[in-house]
Amino acid sequence: MKRIYLDYAATTPTHPEVLKAMLPYFTDAFGNPSSIHFYGQEAKGAIEEARVKVANLINARDEEIIFTSGGTEADNFALKGVALANENKGNHIITSSIEHHAVIESCKFLERGGFSITYLPVDEYGLIDPDDVRKAITDKTVLISVMHANNEVGTIEPITEIGKIAREAGIYFHTDAVQAVGRIPVDVNELGVDLLSMSAHKLYGPKGIGALYIRKGTKLVAFMHGGEQERRRRASTENVPGIVGFGKAVELARQEMGEEEKRLTNLRDQFIKDLLEQIDHTRLNGHPTMRLPNNVNVSADYVEGESMVLNLDLESICASTGSACSSSSLEPSHVLLAMGLSHEQAHGSLRFTQGKWTTEEEIRRVLEVLPRIIAKLRAMSPLLKSHR
Ligand code: PLP
Repeated sequence: MKRIYLDYAATTPTHPEVLKAMLPYFTDAFGNPSSIHFYGQEAKGAIEEARVKVANLINARDEEIIFTSGGTEADNFALKGVALANENKGNHIITSSIEHHAVIESCKFLERGGFSITYLPVDEYGLIDPDDVRKAITDKTVLISVMHANNEVGTIEPITEIGKIAREAGIYFHTDAVQAVGRIPVDVNELGVDLLSMSAHKLYGPKGIGALYIRKGTKLVAFMHGGEQERRRRASTENVPGIVGFGKAVELARQEMGEEEKRLTNLRDQFIKDLLEQIDHTRLNGHPTMRLPNNVNVSADYVEGESMVLNLDLESICASTGSACSSSSLEPSHVLLAMGLSHEQAHGSLRFTQGKWTTEEEIRRVLEVLPRIIAKLRAMSPLLKSHR
């Protein structure tokens, strides 16, 4: 049976055109962009072309894009880079309790180094209240970091409102837009952000390449020390094929995003409606409308997320319990707990994320199989028996 992939938030397959664009940079066009001869300049030219494409997608200038090894590095760079460069101004950072681990763990690292971090709460939908951001600001605050769209529940945060607050207070504002870029329109000027993280493998590009947008004039220390690559902000010979692939992925995203956003939103809403109607004791996690077009996250009472994922896998359906990072740990999702779900409810979560190659037929197949799986698991569930 053909496998059904519904874990596009974890990663996306590399688009065949992206792969095609990358291949010459492994073979004929193998130069080191720092070399001044033909091969070096050929590679350098390809990098700069990709930089323009990435910048255009988010309405930035090309010199404001620094390529990194992915979203994690972009987040680490933004948090640590701004914190360390602005220590003389203050040691307070505001973030949210539902960030990706790349942001949360960077904050914990900074906490151990003497920074104080405010982790803002969220409401039942996973939304941050901009007023809470305003109230958390002190004269020691040097950075606000709030994600654009949550990777587990898909909730889209009020970034523009928070951006205005940050600007008024003269505080740097970073957003982790790894799940948003390529799926919904992202414009750094409309959002009012100074730093923005991206990752290619979430938008049909290759793994191991991402970028940090850094608004001109933002003070931050270099992430890697060594050579003079990336305007001396990120040393190391550039990942040329990866950067070229990222550029191609972004070009395709620009062409296809509007239509794809509509198609996926319709698919998502029908999927949510049918799933909640057909399976009792289930609820949607995340905001019903302010959510990514490709995210369906539900909790089913009396069953464990892991059991559902494993049983779906036996039926050739690939889903997840939440983020790829926490799916191998037994800890309940920090995102769902922050939204007020009990440990039991958080353990019963299931995430389907759709993408370019998802069809209505595939969703119909999930709706055929899932009620059966949940009924079987509930019949064996000690959780259900204790509620009877
Ligand atoms: N931030 C968010 C919101 C993500 O979803 C992810 C990936 O799951 C990352 C950061 C990390 O990106 P990468 O895998 O490129 O390091």
